[in-house]
Amino acid sequence: MEQIEKKSILLVEDEEKLARFVELELTHEGYNVEKSGNGREALELALQNHYDLILLDIMLPGLNGLEVLRRLLKEKEVPVILLTARDAVMDKVSGLDAGAVDYITKPFAIEELLARIRVALKLHAGLSAGKNESGNSGNEEGVIRWKELTLDDRRHEVRYAGHEITLTNREFLMLKTLLENQDIVLSRDTLLNKVCGYDYAGETNVVDVYIRYLRSKIDDVFDIKMIRTVRGVGYVIKSE
Ligand code: CA
Repeated sequence: MEQIEKKSILLVEDEEKLARFVELELTHEGYNVEKSGNGREALELALQNHYDLILLDIMLPGLNGLEVLRRLLKEKEVPVILLTARDAVMDKVSGLDAGAVDYITKPFAIEELLARIRVALKLHAGLSAGKNESGNSGNEEGVIRWKELTLDDRRHEVRYAGHEITLTNREFLMLKTLLENQDIVLSRDTLLNKVCGYDYAGETNVVDVYIRYLRSKIDDVFDIKMIRTVRGVGYVIKSE
């Protein structure tokens, strides 16, 4: 069911051997692959064409991968997985902040990359298609409400009392997951799996970081207590 249409991937990597290897594997898996080894060229390609997903190396000639990411996501919404060097912690944090959906550290096992690609594509399909085909009746499709807050899944929009709140992809996913499970305390592991993919190798305190971002953008700004910490367990948004 999921393999009906070929997904296209832009692979941005200047290490030719690695790029060639990943291209072969992705093609073998049934993806359409385009390659670029230059940041500036990649940005142009990504802006001009439709890709379902972008794999983006950070250290690139032409334009740094993080800069490509920032400029690209200003213009369009596309899931980006960063290919980062080992120990480049700041790159990972900056990349996720800038809206990358995930990162994978080089060298990586191709199976892990493929798994992360599947997760990213699935999450993104869920986000952009919303409840298109679910046939739900009643509520506005894809809109989740909590008090004065609305999360519009299809438009990827969050508002509080009419004020638009700008969230990164991960913050959006985190909020969506909490809103969909109101009154259920979600553990850090559960949230991590939902937001970062099931085999995410990072630590669960990444979740705390995103909760902090969300609170600073919503709770603090509107002076509300939306996301509650349940000590030793996780987080919850209560419907009451
Ligand atoms: Ca590189």
